[in-house]
Amino acid sequence: MTITIDRSGCISCGVCEAICPKVFRLDDAGLAEVTQQPDKESEESAAQAAADCPVAVIIVEE
Ligand code: SF4
Repeated sequence: MTITIDRSGCISCGVCEAICPKVFRLDDAGLAEVTQQPDKESEESAAQAAADCPVAVIIVEE
């Protein structure tokens, strides 16, 4: 699984970081970034974060 974020559309809500802090964090500008690609343990929560992003800017590629 590979995660990318279309950061130009991020509204800094923090949902992704709250759901999967191992993969997502808000940077100093308040935009979400991927700190590391998901491992087996974090795949499910990373996919959940993508599904719950209110503006659907988290892209999951299998
Ligand atoms: S859930 Fe989406 S809009 Fe919210 S911080 Fe993460 S990437 Fe940005």
